[in-house]
Amino acid sequence: MTNLDLMEKIVSLAKRRGFVFPGSEIYGGLAGVYDFGPHGVELLNNLKRLWWEASVSARDNWYGLDAGMFKNPKVWEASGHTSGFSDPLAECKKCNTRIRVDKELEALGVTADEKMSEEEINALFDAHRAEIACPKCGGHEFSPAKKFNLLVKSNLGDFASEGGEPVYLPGEACQGIYLDYKNVVDSMHPKIPFGIAQIGKAFRNEISPRNFLFRCREFEQADTQLFVKPDENKEAYEALKEERMAWYQSIGIRKEKLRFKQHENLVFYAKDAWDIEYEYPWGFDELEGIHDRSDYDLSQHQKFSGTDLSYADPETGEKFIPWILETSMGMGRLFLAILADAYREDELGGETRAYLALSPKVAPVKAMVSPLLKNKPELVEKAKEIRAALSKALPGAAIAWDDNGNIGKRYRRQDEIGTPFCITIDFDTLGEKPELKDTVTLRHRDSGEQERLTVSEAAEKIRAAI
Ligand code: ATP
Repeated sequence: MTNLDLMEKIVSLAKRRGFVFPGSEIYGGLAGVYDFGPHGVELLNNLKRLWWEASVSARDNWYGLDAGMFKNPKVWEASGHTSGFSDPLAECKKCNTRIRVDKELEALGVTADEKMSEEEINALFDAHRAEIACPKCGGHEFSPAKKFNLLVKSNLGDFASEGGEPVYLPGEACQGIYLDYKNVVDSMHPKIPFGIAQIGKAFRNEISPRNFLFRCREFEQADTQLFVKPDENKEAYEALKEERMAWYQSIGIRKEKLRFKQHENLVFYAKDAWDIEYEYPWGFDELEGIHDRSDYDLSQHQKFSGTDLSYADPETGEKFIPWILETSMGMGRLFLAILADAYREDELGGETRAYLALSPKVAPVKAMVSPLLKNKPELVEKAKEIRAALSKALPGAAIAWDDNGNIGKRYRRQDEIGTPFCITIDFDTLGEKPELKDTVTLRHRDSGEQERLTVSEAAEKIRAAI
């Protein structure tokens, strides 16, 4: 299987099995927007819950937040997004396809960073033009690169028609944390160092959305901001990096598919910046950014809002603007990494099959219950009884019912969904062999192995795994 095959297979399985659908599909779609289907939303919710547990519940002195998406237009001025949040765009002269010049240069090993002027980017672009081909028609003639702002405008309140700034959709979710930092301090009285975590939507006018969930125009970010005393950043930053890397492994991602990458060109206020990269089907690429940002964000908001955002240390009385250590992970990029990491093909019982070797913690369905034959009422009734007993024994766990097609087909379907356990009720469960009465067959997804257990033994196995 080539890497491109793998990508195609993941996209196709995601649609076929109700994980991810293209947005507005019946109208021909809308580039860069995807919908999470019935199994997708369960998997997504499991990932969010595991992230929340690790980022808020399991940590001392961390606080959750869910800020409104629309913000005062001044927020994006203070953050630098209205002036600086842009990508260099060029258009193919033959077919009008738009390319992102910085990403094309990056693929050639040339860095065009955010601080560069249009002239500087065009000088680099001109020097490498012959090596850059249009992804659609293969041509090499492009318009000059122009900076294209990524913020998405709304007409909320219609301020722009009165000459004011428009209200933007969030270009990044984390601004909500800076804006509510003072409210959290005043209401929760946290002792520094303390952290705030949030999952929120972000919108970007990406020039060329691509690679499925990797580069979208609407996506979710899971962000944490750790507030520390000035100059007390280094040790905490290293600890944060290690924690985040370990977290990915704790939810089942293979260690060898993850790596750190340090940023070469830091923005002027940053002390350090690293990405955690995952090896996607097209190669290693950014999954999460971990940034040591000094006091930049709060200082900017203090300056633009005129509100005092300093922290008063309750022990020493000292007042200062905290420094911020940030982690920012794209939920869609995590979702894609989880699918790519779990996708397997093998031979089982003389047939090739595809399955998702998802960690039972993240799997959308924990177990499937089915009667061996669906036209035998006594089997169906017993299977329903057992499903109800399992749901009671495993509160909150998604226990599915499937009596469609023959048992082999049902197993294949659950394998593709990544269901770790299948439970089958047969005539022995009803007591045809008296010594097996009230036992079931528990099938394991990855090995295909089956074992005979009582219902409570099966429930215990599932509980231990999830
Ligand atoms: P890139 O260089 O790939 O455009 P970025 O460095 O601009 O990403 P950040 O602004 O640091 O990304 O955003 C933090 C995280 O949000 C990224 O690590 C990524 O996981 C996610 N993210 C950013 N842009 C997108 C997008 N267009 N679609 C999906 N996820 C995204």
